[in-house]
Amino acid sequence: MTAYDETCIFCKIANGEFDTDFIAESDNVVAFNDINPVAPVHVLIIPKIHITSVHELGDEHQRIWNELLVTTQAVADKLGVTDSGYRLVTNAGANAGQEVPHLHIHLLGGKKLGSLG
Ligand code: AMP
Ligand code: ZN
Repeated sequence: MTAYDETCIFCKIANGEFDTDFIAESDNVVAFNDINPVAPVHVLIIPKIHITSVHELGDEHQRIWNELLVTTQAVADKLGVTDSGYRLVTNAGANAGQEVPHLHIHLLGGKKLGSLG
């Protein structure tokens, strides 16, 4: 697996190529607003290295996965949705509707969310 995929928009974002406003950043992770939000709070939390989906995570990624979750918690606190509640979604593959093949966690909040499905 290569760390940077030059055809991948999220690799470019993580690499700072679009001057994206990061809501949070740590050694291995960045978080930024979704360009097409479906809730008042809609943030994407992604690893800096190219990992296609959650299904590609292995033992060697434990630290990154932990950092993704810690960053997600920090974003929820920063944007004030911890008490009201939020939802995490990560799509893997076609039936889930994954559009960008670079692992990302959607953090959704700021309104009462509908049921899953
Ligand atoms: P998914 O369907 O889970 O792959 O989600 C991809 C998400 O990335 C969608 O919610 C898009 O709105 C979002 N997205 C695509 N391109 C960008 C971009 N350049 N900046 C921010 N969000 C993006
Ligand atoms: Zn990528």
